[in-house]
Amino acid sequence: MKKVRHVLGISGGKDSAALAIYMKDNYPELDIEYYTADTGKELDETYKLIDNLEVYLGKKIIRLTGAPNSPELPFDHFLKMYGGYLPSSNARWCTKNLKLAPFEKFVGNDPVVSYVGIRGDEDREGYISKKSNIQSIFPFRRNIWSEDVISRMLANSNISATLALYGTLEQSSKSDRYIELLKTPLSTIFTLSQKLNQLLDLGVKEFNRLVFAFLKNSQYPLATEEYFPLVNSEDILIRKDIFNILETSGVGVPEYYKEIEFEINGKSSTYARSRSGCFFCFYQQKIEWVWLYEQHTELFLKAMEYEKDGYTWIQDEPLSDLIKPERVQQIKEEYIKRTDRKNKTQSPYLLDILSEAEGEGCASCFI
Ligand code: SF4
Repeated sequence: MKKVRHVLGISGGKDSAALAIYMKDNYPELDIEYYTADTGKELDETYKLIDNLEVYLGKKIIRLTGAPNSPELPFDHFLKMYGGYLPSSNARWCTKNLKLAPFEKFVGNDPVVSYVGIRGDEDREGYISKKSNIQSIFPFRRNIWSEDVISRMLANSNISATLALYGTLEQSSKSDRYIELLKTPLSTIFTLSQKLNQLLDLGVKEFNRLVFAFLKNSQYPLATEEYFPLVNSEDILIRKDIFNILETSGVGVPEYYKEIEFEINGKSSTYARSRSGCFFCFYQQKIEWVWLYEQHTELFLKAMEYEKDGYTWIQDEPLSDLIKPERVQQIKEEYIKRTDRKNKTQSPYLLDILSEAEGEGCASCFI
C-alpha cells in the first residue's frame, strides 16, 4: 500500500503562507511537501515571500511549472498555444494549465492529503482538485473536512452506519443529544450545514473522531492512516490571526497588502492589492489596476502589451482607456464612495473591501 503524502500549496498569498508556518509549528510530525506552481508572472513581492518562507520552513518549496520544457515563461507559452486569447473568469485556461495540471502531475496517483488555507471566517470550499486520490483538509476552519466527506457521512442513507460507528467510539459518555442529532434526517428544514454545525457545537474533537472513523471504511487517503493529529484540533483562525502569524514568524506580510495613501478632490483614502497571483490577473478590481499603474507602472505597461487583436483583460475596457486621467479620477471617486459606505457598516480591513469577491477565483492562485 502506498504511503500517504502530505502536501501544501503556496500560492504566494497570505493565507497559504500562514498555513505553512502554522503546520510547521503545530504539526512537526507531519512530513509535508511544500510546493508552488509558478506562472512566471507573479509580483516580485510574491517571489520574496516564497524565499522567506523557505528559510522559515527550513525546507525547499518545490517549484512546479506548467511548461517545463518551454523556452518561454509558462504563461506566455500557453498564451501562444491559445492564439493570444487572454484568460477570463469564463475561460480560465491559465489556472487549469499553470496551476491544476502541474499539481495533478506532481501528485500522480499517490494518495495525498492536501492542506488548504481557507480561513475560519470565510464561507467557501476552495476547490483544488476533483481527483479521488487527493483529500483536502482545512486546518483553519472549525470543520476541517471537505464537503464531499461530510455529505457522504451525514447522508440520510448513511444514518444507521454512522450511529453504529458512533457507538464504537471510545467516549467517556455517549451523549443522547448527539445520537438524536445523528438520527435526524436531512430535509428542507434541517440542512446539511445545520446538522454539521449542531454536531460541531457539541464537540469538535468528538466530531473529528467520528469522521476519522468513517474514513477508515472509505477510499479516501486518510483511510490508511493510523493516526491523524488534526483530529484533536479545535483551532479556528481568522484574518487577524493570519497577519499575526506572518508578522511574528518574521516571514512578513507581502508588501502589496500594505495600504498606500492617495488623494483625490481633497479627499484622502488608501489602496492596496488584495491578493496574490499574476500581476495582470483579470480578477483584480479597477482600483487595483489603478494601484498597479501608479505603483508598478512597468508591470501595468507589460499588461497593456498583452491586449492585442481585440482581446482585453477587462471586458469592454482596454487598459489604455482605464489610465486616462478622467477615468482614473472616476475610479478613485467611486472607490472612495464604496469604502466610505462599507467602513460604516463592515470590517475595518481594507482587504475586506477590496476583496469583496474573495470567494471568486480559485484556491490555487489566491489563498
Ligand atoms: S492569478 Fe489570475 S491570471 Fe494568474 S493563473 Fe490565476 S486566475 Fe489566471
